[in-house]
Amino acid sequence: MNQSVERLTAVQAKIAAAEKSRGGTGDPVTLVAVSKTWSADEIRPVIEAGARVFGENKVQEARDKWPGLKQEFPDLELRLLGPLQTNKVRDAVALFDVIETLDREKLAAELSREIRKQGRAPRLYVQVNTGREPQKAGIDPDETVAFVRRCQDVHGLAIEGLMCIPPAGEDPAPHFDLLARLADETGLKRRSMGMSGDYETAIRHGASSVRVGSAIFGSRTYA
Ligand SMILES: *Cc1c(COP(=O)(O)O)cnc(C)c1O
Repeated sequence: MNQSVERLTAVQAKIAAAEKSRGGTGDPVTLVAVSKTWSADEIRPVIEAGARVFGENKVQEARDKWPGLKQEFPDLELRLLGPLQTNKVRDAVALFDVIETLDREKLAAELSREIRKQGRAPRLYVQVNTGREPQKAGIDPDETVAFVRRCQDVHGLAIEGLMCIPPAGEDPAPHFDLLARLADETGLKRRSMGMSGDYETAIRHGASSVRVGSAIFGSRTYA
């Protein structure tokens, strides 16, 4: 069997076990297979094995890889997980089914405009910088509730959930708990949290989707 497919099966089993350990409460966890840096030919076996939700970091890379795959497999869902520049919003709205990195007012305004123009509305997550890291994207935790309200009320955006990337080398659990609390405060049900190293912890702390790259595709040589 293809190695990525073998690893996919193992990840799916661990997700199921972690779901069970939280007592069967909550909706089933969505696995987002993070395929950045991998080619369409390397991704295809994972699609054929049943994975349907994929994540990419860069608009341009996704434009090069995914239109063909989406034509081959019309029921795929593609998510943007990397920072979105306002000059790429048009392409992002046209290509992605979910954008998880909404984190500033100007981007909210631009997304709102482009969604109306194209008549196509990707589902949206607000990215929260739970570790308040200066180099990291995401809205400050203290500003999250007000920002979500402005996205909804001022910009007319439907926000599906919150997303976070905890600081590397720290216990991620407090960050997952903070994201869960902020989601509760804003009345949002979906929480995108957990990557290859900590997705089981994230599920135990209330993740509704996990973003797993290297545990499926192997280690990347860049990005
Ligand atoms: C790359 C990336 C992932 C996947 O990381 P792995 O450690 O390979 O699982 C998840 N989320 C985001 C935002 C990423 O950029």
